[in-house]
Amino acid sequence: MSDFDYDFFVIGCGSGGVRAARIAANHGARVAVCEERYLGGTCVNVGCIPKKLLVYASHFHDDFEDASGFGWTVGKSSFDWSRLIANKNQEIQRLNGVYKRLLDNAGAELILGRGVLVDDHSVEIEGKRYTAERILVATGGWPSVPEFPGCEHVITSNEAFYLEHTPTRAIVVGGGYIAVEFAGIFHSLGVDVIQLYRGSLFLRGFDDDVRQHVADEYAAKGIDLRFNTEVTRIDKDGDSYAVTLNDGSEVDVDLVMYATGRRPLTAGLGLDKAGVDLDDKGAIKVDDNWQTSVPHIYAIGDVIDRIQLTPVALNEGHILADFLFGEPARDMSYENVPSAVFSQPPIGSVGLAEGQAREKYGDVHIYKSSFNALKNTLSGRNEKTFMKLIVDPASDRVVGIHMVGPEAGEIIQGFAVAMKAGATKSHFDTTIGIHPTSAEEFVTMRERH
Ligand code: NDP
Repeated sequence: MSDFDYDFFVIGCGSGGVRAARIAANHGARVAVCEERYLGGTCVNVGCIPKKLLVYASHFHDDFEDASGFGWTVGKSSFDWSRLIANKNQEIQRLNGVYKRLLDNAGAELILGRGVLVDDHSVEIEGKRYTAERILVATGGWPSVPEFPGCEHVITSNEAFYLEHTPTRAIVVGGGYIAVEFAGIFHSLGVDVIQLYRGSLFLRGFDDDVRQHVADEYAAKGIDLRFNTEVTRIDKDGDSYAVTLNDGSEVDVDLVMYATGRRPLTAGLGLDKAGVDLDDKGAIKVDDNWQTSVPHIYAIGDVIDRIQLTPVALNEGHILADFLFGEPARDMSYENVPSAVFSQPPIGSVGLAEGQAREKYGDVHIYKSSFNALKNTLSGRNEKTFMKLIVDPASDRVVGIHMVGPEAGEIIQGFAVAMKAGATKSHFDTTIGIHPTSAEEFVTMRERH
């Protein structure tokens, strides 16, 4: 046994940190994990989980409308934001407890408080020093808001989850996952939403057809999309805000939410004292084994500059702990990571966008379909489902699968396995569909575009 207090000290109790601590402890390592804020990190407290609960809540608006075509008369409905938030908070508290039990059951010691590196083997928490043979930094990220006159008036997703009431009129700034998801949530809960994006079409990085489809659906729903638009200043005006835009116009709203990316949480962690190098974006630099510039200090999750997704952090933590304390079981692959944007309708996507595929393979075959889902026939909802397959003709491999429509995340998860297994277009063509579903369209698309 080493002279250190622990074999493995994890800073940060989010998805990645908890997974690494738990697996390391299961392998018999003496593990401590510290947390200054909340157990479960961003995903559980101010990210994926509460976001999806709000998406469910906001969907009832459409569901009540759709019910009528199926013969239902729904009584007068009303919505109570504070009840939703109280119930959501209760569920998060339960999950905080689950995370604590996971660590306890694995035998990892949880130390509450802010952990700061004082040298490359020591972490100090509230005046007490702990030594460890290996240290893992898994401190995650934090919303980042640009500096401009009046920026102190804006909220981020962190605060959006704890608003006392919904605004009447809101501006959501940004064109990534969070902005698109919150614009959809607020709109469906009855807020007048203006979504501003600095570029010509939001959701940069996604397939262009997907981006356009979501933009068309959002505009059709009544979300006021303003592209090539930026905020230049915000002035408080009583209970509302006067927001000046780059075209000189002014809009009055009662909430401005910024979702303009997240930065790695590294400030004040003592990384410089330990000799850990950062890149020019402030993320911790790591190699293929998540080793930092100090070989026995590791970093995973949103604090490194890879993919900011919970399942990615979970895999990184698991594989690292196996690698350090158990049997190295599998490699981490950052290729073909599926993801969903819980917009309304949602996006599910895996593999390359058409532009990326053309860059990589030159000529590619495109199959796409836009159709009215069966449910919309009786509900009368005017919302199209969009699907797209991108195929490398040389190998017949499907290299991109994209969908916008109900349950896109659920559907794409399964297709992601097929893609990982190297599925070809002829595998898709020889797979029998499940009828009547939307997903069957992926195995019946025959006409090239
Ligand atoms: P993203 O990086 O996805 O998007 C940031 C958006 O803000 C982009 O549209 C970007 O524009 C814009 N932006 C950046 N800086 C500025 C600026 N100074 N002024 C105006 N606009 C700006 O970040 P998010 O905050 O939406 O989410 C962070 C990450 O969290 C995501 O990348 C994702 O990995 C993860 N996440 C995943 C979810 C999921 O899986 N469903 C849900 C929520 C978050 P441009 O495109 O021009 O750079």
